[in-house]
Amino acid sequence: MQFHIVTIFPRILDSYLKESIIGRAQKSGAIEVLAHNLRDYTTDKHEKVDDTPYGGGAGMVLQVQPIYACVEKIKKLIAKNEKDNPPKAGPPRAETRIILFSAKGKKYTQRSAERLSKYDNLILICGRYEGVDERVAQHIADEEISIGDYVLTGGELPAMIIIDSVMRLLPGVLGNEESAKHESHKNKNYKEHPQYSKPPIFNDWQVPEVLMSGNHGEIKKWRSFTSRTPPRRGHTNNK
Ligand code: SAM
Repeated sequence: MQFHIVTIFPRILDSYLKESIIGRAQKSGAIEVLAHNLRDYTTDKHEKVDDTPYGGGAGMVLQVQPIYACVEKIKKLIAKNEKDNPPKAGPPRAETRIILFSAKGKKYTQRSAERLSKYDNLILICGRYEGVDERVAQHIADEEISIGDYVLTGGELPAMIIIDSVMRLLPGVLGNEESAKHESHKNKNYKEHPQYSKPPIFNDWQVPEVLMSGNHGEIKKWRSFTSRTPPRRGHTNNK
């Protein structure tokens, strides 16, 4: 799966992308993450990609022209990639979804991650400053996504959140496929049970005895109960 990030800060995510599971997923070829510098697509000789808002108001707005040019270039890259590497079976299909990050977009959830993991390519448009010329939402993006009810300085962290949450659903990316099957948010309102590891006692904070009992029936019951009613701060919930 390919992720194309449209940004004015293409290097901002480098260190995160190199490490851990996301780094390994790229090395194994399960995912490819390509950052595209919006400034490379402006027709302005000073590489300006923003301007003042019509109607007045504070701040600057990312302009539609460089975003359009960048997304068109990415679509061509995707088409070429599809032609050079046709699927081994079935008809060619390069399903692409274009996402604009916006604090007023539709709220991102685990369901959204599952839905987006079915695409072959995601184009992720990161806003900055006061936001993005509305014509991007009207004519270029397929959907507007917000990662929560708060305002960030840019769409790059939201892009990372989408990439991270989507790629871990792809086959072969997590070492242990089982772990993704029983996670929080897998079903509506489902939250995973609390987890403990060694040592059994630390600072007189004890691991619930039932978890060390070897009684799988009781462990299952405890997990089911505590996933709905987790131990409160200061309480061990040993039963
Ligand atoms: N003026 C905008 C508003 O009031 O909705 C906020 C612009 S924000 C400072 C700049 C960019 O950061 C946005 O265009 C968007 O791409 C990104 N952004 C900020 N908060 C976000 C959120 N909660 N979810 C997704 N993207 C966000």
